[in-house]
This record gives sequence, C-alpha cells and structure tokens, in this order.
Amino acid sequence: MAYREPLSDYRRAARMKWPEATVKGDGPWALLCQVTQTVTLYFLYMWAAADAAKEHSNWQCAAEHRLIEIKPLPLRKERPLRYTAEMERD
Ligand SMILES: [Zn+2]
Repeated sequence: MAYREPLSDYRRAARMKWPEATVKGDGPWALLCQVTQTVTLYFLYMWAAADAAKEHSNWQCAAEHRLIEIKPLPLRKERPLRYTAEMERD
C-alpha cells in the first residue's frame, strides 16, 4: 500500500492554505469549518456537500461550513512542455 501517496498534493495545498487548521481526508474539495478549525478533503463534490450539511458533533457549525475547490500543490514545479515551447518561440 505504501507507494508514494499519489494524493498528498491536495493535503499539501490545504495545509499551506489553512496553516492553523487540522487537515483530514484527501481530494480536491475542501470542507472548511471555521468553528472547529478543521479542513476535510473529499474526492467528490457530492461527498463534501453531504457532510457540509451536518454539524461537527454538537458544535452547531453547519451554517459556517464552506466548500472550496483547491488546486493540487506538487512538490516539484515543472512547467508543462507546451508552455516552454511557446515561450521559446519568440
Ligand atoms: Zn463544522
């Protein structure tokens, strides 16, 4: 099972975006709960939306929940070859 964690780019992006919050799960859809200071990641919007409607335990925080789509943050910054080729043309 331990083969390079292919999905951790989303977690890395979420940690950078919300350094104070606890990041759980994985995927491009972030459910941000400012009351409990947690960010839960999901692969599908519908999963995130379903959980966004629920309270975290008895915090009554569902009204504060926000769904945000995040971009993965890869470790290496490699420009796509396509762009490089376009820039070298001039
Ligand atoms: Zn909450």
